[in-house]
Amino acid sequence: MSNTAIPSGPQARRGSRSVLVAHGDRKIWVGGDAPVVVQSMTNTDTADAVATAIQIKDLARAGSELVRLTVDRPEAAAAVPYIRDQLDKMGIDVPLVGDFHYNGHTLLTDYPDCAQALSKYRINPGNVGKGAKRDTQFAQMIEVAVKYDKPVRIGVNWGSLDQALLARIMDENAARENPWSAQAVMYEALITSAIENAVRAEELGMGRDKIILSCKVSGVQDLIAVYRELGKRCDYPLHLGLTEAGMGSKGIVASTAALSVLLQEGIGDTIRISLTPEPGGDRTKEVVVGQEILQTMGLRKFTPMVIACPGCGRTTSTTFQELADDIQTYLRDSMPEWKKEYPGVEAMNVAVMGCIVNGPGESKHANIGISLPGTGESPAAPVFVDGQKFATLRGENIVQEFQAIVLDYVKKNYGKAYV
Ligand code: SF4
Repeated sequence: MSNTAIPSGPQARRGSRSVLVAHGDRKIWVGGDAPVVVQSMTNTDTADAVATAIQIKDLARAGSELVRLTVDRPEAAAAVPYIRDQLDKMGIDVPLVGDFHYNGHTLLTDYPDCAQALSKYRINPGNVGKGAKRDTQFAQMIEVAVKYDKPVRIGVNWGSLDQALLARIMDENAARENPWSAQAVMYEALITSAIENAVRAEELGMGRDKIILSCKVSGVQDLIAVYRELGKRCDYPLHLGLTEAGMGSKGIVASTAALSVLLQEGIGDTIRISLTPEPGGDRTKEVVVGQEILQTMGLRKFTPMVIACPGCGRTTSTTFQELADDIQTYLRDSMPEWKKEYPGVEAMNVAVMGCIVNGPGESKHANIGISLPGTGESPAAPVFVDGQKFATLRGENIVQEFQAIVLDYVKKNYGKAYV
């Protein structure tokens, strides 16, 4: 028998510095002891200010704590202050991050209202210019950030790696007695690009507490290897995510596999799940997936969790799946209001189970649980509240009656009047 208890939970955070990303009174800390931040990115044309403001509102209401938008041309830069204004009028105070490539130095200089309306700038050091122009254009962006006191993310991406730097690292590798593999050289180039540009930004006057780093790749093992090393070599907060994670379940699984390993090791201060939306799909899915990764790992709580069994041959009707889906949707849709009215409700667990095999047992572990009748069982659904049998539901209106019990529980246990 072992003398030591089995450890649980993620390893201690790496102890990164913290960076403040703010808009007005809304303050989002990234790094240090702050909870891991969920962010997302729009896919509207930023120049279409109305469509972009609406999508940002949707992403923010879904729980995105930072929203990035592309600023790719003068029309987009000109729209940013208007978008910010529209969001403020709707009461959406989520900080906005501008994503700049190639012409960011010009746009940030020529559109000072855009530079001020944004709360953070993302700079891709592989896309700030070539040759002699590279350093001046990078410096120009950092100067604007310093002038307006904005933090930056130096976001390296293996699809747009600084080719001059890669060539330098390859030359260094060729001179080694035992040259590294091409993969190891690529990792080294990504990490070197991020850190050297962060140091350069500091030399240009940017505070060390204003810099976040990322090194995005699209392979799970590559991401884990790169971030483990990046985490060892610096104490800047790290933005984590697979670039081009993919579509549907592949994108979700790949992102979860990569991020879970790193988060468990205390690596990663903010995450974005780069899902390709299904045609006509909902952009907010990337926010939901990010939240669910953090919540199922026990790192944060965003919305009440539904524990549902997978169903099996004992569940021949679709009532069970419909109820699980309805309750999950109901809880998530209610959260923007519940967050204000019922603090702490995000920690609630609701069990929706398909039959008596595990139903009552799992229901008793949840705050509220329902066990639907399986094939051949009597048509009754026992409901448990805080581990005790509370009611038995029958008939056509089980879904509505169960929702009413959930809402009543929320009001009684999380309502401000009861705190
Ligand atoms: S709880 Fe019942 S219905 Fe659900 S998976 Fe287990 S045996 Fe099947």
